[in-house]
Amino acid sequence: MSIKPMEIALDEARAAAARGEVPVGAVITNPQGVVVARAGNRTRELSDPSAHAEMLALRAACAAAGSERLPGHALWVTLEPCPMCAAAIGFARIARLYYGASDPKSGGVAQAPRVFTHPQCHHAPEVYDGIAEEPAAALLRSFFSSLRR
Ligand SMILES: [Zn+2]
Repeated sequence: MSIKPMEIALDEARAAAARGEVPVGAVITNPQGVVVARAGNRTRELSDPSAHAEMLALRAACAAAGSERLPGHALWVTLEPCPMCAAAIGFARIARLYYGASDPKSGGVAQAPRVFTHPQCHHAPEVYDGIAEEPAAALLRSFFSSLRR
């Protein structure tokens, strides 16, 4: 497995930080492994609490596909998805989810809500965590420590 899509997601996270957004980036690859969408957080820029990197990438990939479902696609994200994004990933029928850093505070995959193991979840992707975890976590640490200064 190549982790190249995660490197692109990290680039998107860095770009988000440069815009003053929480540094999270996401990439969607099609069944052939081709990148079909990439995005970073834009909640502040768009004044939209749902403009998480995963949501923006899903919207772009679905628009390009002309479908609300993306079977066979993989979503790569630098941080464990929150419950909102995890639910949207399920709705989109994403086949595989790769994420970097875990998010004990707001995560919805391995943390409390555990969206994909919830009885109401109709579709759960295969989940691979800890992909490029260290650079993803370092970006978040430096972003939040700069806020506290
Ligand atoms: Zn989210």
